[in-house]
Amino acid sequence: MKTDVVVVGAGPTGLFSVFQCGMVGLKTHVIDSLDFIGGQCAALYPEKPIYDIPAYSAISGINLIHQLENQAKPFNPVYHLNQQVIDITPIARDWLVTTSNGTEIQTKGIIIAAGAGAFGPNRPPLEKIEDYEGISVFYSVPEQSKFKNKHIVIAGGGDSAVDWAISLSEIATSVTMVHRRSKFRAAQDSVNKLNALASQNKIKLVTPYQLAALNGSNGQLTSITATDLSGNSQTVQADILLPFFGLQMDLGPIAGWGLSTENKHLKVSPSSMETNLAGIHAIGDIATYPGKLKLILCGFSEAAISAHALRTRIFPDTTFHFEYSTTQGVPNS
Ligand code: FAD
Repeated sequence: MKTDVVVVGAGPTGLFSVFQCGMVGLKTHVIDSLDFIGGQCAALYPEKPIYDIPAYSAISGINLIHQLENQAKPFNPVYHLNQQVIDITPIARDWLVTTSNGTEIQTKGIIIAAGAGAFGPNRPPLEKIEDYEGISVFYSVPEQSKFKNKHIVIAGGGDSAVDWAISLSEIATSVTMVHRRSKFRAAQDSVNKLNALASQNKIKLVTPYQLAALNGSNGQLTSITATDLSGNSQTVQADILLPFFGLQMDLGPIAGWGLSTENKHLKVSPSSMETNLAGIHAIGDIATYPGKLKLILCGFSEAAISAHALRTRIFPDTTFHFEYSTTQGVPNS
C-alpha cells in the first residue's frame, strides 16, 4: 500500500490532520491501536462536555469525535484500527510503516499524533485488582448509565475524580470518594460543588485515606477497605470502584524510532512540527516545544502547520496558492 501521509493515532488531532492534509491535496491512512477512533475523548470521557473547543460553548468528547470524523470524510481517509504502529524504516525519501497486524504502508510523510503513546491508566497497587477490572473496577466511564443505582467508590483527588463524583451522584445509590489528602487538586468550582454535595450527604468523603484492599469474589466487588497513616481503617460498601490516578505516559514502540525526545515527548520545531527526522512530524499531546499547551485546540493548529509543511516536502516543485476554505471549498462527501 502507498499513500502520501500516514497518521499515527486517531485521536482528535490525528483526525483533524486528515482534514488539513486533504485541504492541501495529501491522501492519508490513519492507524490506531484501539478498535475505535477518538483517542482520549472517546476512550476516557465520551460523555463529558468540553468547554474550550472554539465555537462550541460545550461539546461532549464523543460528539467532537463525530464532528471531526464527518469533517475528514470528504478526503476518504483509510482507517486501520486495532493495530499498533510498531516500526518505521526509511526507503529513500519515503518511509515504510509496519503495524502489529503486519500491515505495511509506504508513505511520503508521517504525522505522529499518538497522544500519551501506548497509554494506560495508573493502577493502584492492590492485590488481585486485575480480577475485578472490566467487571467492577473501571478506569474510565464509557457510559454513565451502567453505573445507575450502584454503590460507587471513586479514588483520586484530581479533576476526573471530582467531576465524575459530581456527575455520578445524580444517578448512583451512593458515591464515596477516597483520597489520600484532605484537599482536592481539582478546579475550585468543582471542589466547591463537591463540598456542597458532601454537606448534603449526597457524596461521602473518606480522607485522608488510601485504598488498601478490594473485597468480593468472581470479579464482583462488595466493598473496599481504606486505611489512613495512623493505621485506622474503614470499609465502604462498593459495587463499582473507579480509580482515577491519571494516565501513564509510555511512548511504547515510538521510543525506538530514533526520534529526539524530552521527558517521554517528541521534540519538534514549532514552525513545522517536524521532528529530528525529515518527513516525520508530531502533533498533539505527544509533541513538545517551548510554550507547548496540551490542549485539543493547540493540536488542531499543529495539524494545520504539519500538513502545510509536509505538502512542501512532498510536492516541492508545485507552487502552492494558499486559499481560505471559504474560497477553496471542500469536495462533496
Ligand atoms: P489522544 O487523544 O491521546 O489520541 C492518541 C491516539 O494514538 C490513541 O487513540 C492511541 O491509541 C493512539 N496510539 C498511540 N500510539 C500508537 C501507536 N504506536 N500505533 C497506533 N496508535 C497509537 N483537552 C482540552 O483541550 N479540553 C478539555 O476540556 C479536556 N478535558 C479532558 C478531560 C479528561 C478526563 C482527559 C483525560 C483529557 C482531557 N483533555 C482536554 C485532554 C485531551 O483529551 C487531549 O489533549 C487530547 O485527547 C490529545 O489528543 P491527541 O490526538 O494528541 O491524542
